[in-house]
Amino acid sequence: MNRLLSILDRIDRRGYGAYKDLQGSYDLGAFTLFVDRVQRDPFAPPSLVRVRTKSNRFPSGLYGNPVRRVAFEDFLTRAVEAAVRRVVRGNRGSGGSGRVEIQHPSQAVLPRTSMVVTGDYVEARMAVGLPARGRTVDARAARAVLLEELPEVVRRSLVPGGIDEGAARRHVETVEDARHLRGLLPELGLVAFVADGAILPRESGASDRPLRQAAVPFQSPEELRVTVELPNRGELSGMGIPEGVTLVAGGGFHGKSTLLEALSRSVYDHIPGDGRELVVTREDAVKIRAEDGRSVAGVDISGMIGDLPGGRSTSDFSTPNASGSTSQAANIAEALEIGTSLLLVDEDTSATNFMIRDERMRELVRKEPISPFIDLVRPLHATLGVSTIVVVGGVGDYLDVADRVILMEDYRPSDATPRAVEVRRKFPPRAPLGEARVRPPEDRRLRSSSIDLRRGKRETARGKGLSTIELGRERVDLTYLEQLVEPGQTEAIARIVGDFVAGTGSRGVRSVVEKALASIERDGLDSLGSFRGHPGQMSLPRAHEVAGAINRIRSLEASTG
Ligand code: ADP
Ligand code: MG
Repeated sequence: MNRLLSILDRIDRRGYGAYKDLQGSYDLGAFTLFVDRVQRDPFAPPSLVRVRTKSNRFPSGLYGNPVRRVAFEDFLTRAVEAAVRRVVRGNRGSGGSGRVEIQHPSQAVLPRTSMVVTGDYVEARMAVGLPARGRTVDARAARAVLLEELPEVVRRSLVPGGIDEGAARRHVETVEDARHLRGLLPELGLVAFVADGAILPRESGASDRPLRQAAVPFQSPEELRVTVELPNRGELSGMGIPEGVTLVAGGGFHGKSTLLEALSRSVYDHIPGDGRELVVTREDAVKIRAEDGRSVAGVDISGMIGDLPGGRSTSDFSTPNASGSTSQAANIAEALEIGTSLLLVDEDTSATNFMIRDERMRELVRKEPISPFIDLVRPLHATLGVSTIVVVGGVGDYLDVADRVILMEDYRPSDATPRAVEVRRKFPPRAPLGEARVRPPEDRRLRSSSIDLRRGKRETARGKGLSTIELGRERVDLTYLEQLVEPGQTEAIARIVGDFVAGTGSRGVRSVVEKALASIERDGLDSLGSFRGHPGQMSLPRAHEVAGAINRIRSLEASTG
């Protein structure tokens, strides 16, 4: 502590660069402060610090297995964020002076670099804007931040007594239950489970928090109700969605997309109080949508779309500008390539001509290369074991291919399968277009040399917010990777891509992604870090989003075989 004080005394009022002398570690009594990286000026991204307690006196039950540890780390990250909000004054001079922050978690519980809990210590990775007056060191303000505010944040969030231990226990137990529940899905023959009482709607289109006012809690239809036994909570009932083809039908504004959206996010665990904490979907579920304008590199979409104008083959399809239907087909082929057992499709965000083609249009248009999705859903399940949940409001033909129909009315689901059978009898069946072919996907080979990380003299591979990755001079747009939930995942993906490009030659997309995730599993997310000590702000992405990002690189060259 005295060393820290004397350095601060010495550099007071000197040029901002003098803060570099702070780099190092300091014993501050209850914890050790590591100053890993000092910012260049008050307007640059804040300095990276870690605070590590001298011991871990939390009950080991809170972090005694890998699932609980991740959940407890998530809890503590939120506790630090809350403590910072209460304790830190912020704004102590120019630029980011006096700002203190920790990675901001989404509603999902994910492995992150923000917190490390071991049997011996608890370590929070934070960022601090070292205070300046103009462009000179403000030692007094720095003392207040580092020696008053930070220790208070530690007392309120990283040691027993500072946190609400009952809430911590509920947090880890809920996450453990959700994990267990997701694990049960295959043996129950289900692709998803929505607990009775779950709150699915969100506050707004811009907020992932639960809708508070007038939210109708989820109630399973009797016919689909499943009761399970969870390790902490005990018995739980809710709607089980079986494998196969499930239709979610209903009038406009009755909660169809809200249900599908909740399912697509429930590949992740959510915090207690989110409303979706006991909603689970197969962890490899992929939301599929149209995304016209995206680039596609060497994807085999011939099972869905035949030869294009000019006899152009679609078995090795590349374009800088896909149409609605070809982009949706590419999204499906890429999901199958990485591996999925469940596709989630919403009519609202699909290309109409990809979903369906009626008989009059078939009569008029003879040169149509597209086999509509309606003819694919059954073969996808029969041949590849891939289930589909599809939201439709307008296209009754889908009744012909559904194993079951969930009807949403006033946000309440009912099992409309028997009525769907009656309706089907009343109308002549739709003639399928013939045998749709689905083949197991091939692993494309990626040429790493097609990605150029150079930008001026430097090489860059970094995340920018939730939906952009900067690779050299290219900005990769991930807006339509809807299952990407926090910027930390985007950052991790950027670094995985950077590591892949640094390697040589051509490799299969699946092996690139699997190897990267296996090495994270083995060495932790920290291993993607670029500075000694503080790794930066990262969260664990899924294989599907890593591949999804690679697939959207415009310069990417890839091909089958
Ligand atoms: P659809 O896809 O059937 O047209 P949406 O899922 O988009 O309908 O839902 C329409 C509106 O209803 C949205 O604003 C949504 O937030 C709200 N909503 C959905 N489910 C519920 C619910 N259970 N309780 C209250 N509001 C809901
Ligand atoms: Mg909708």
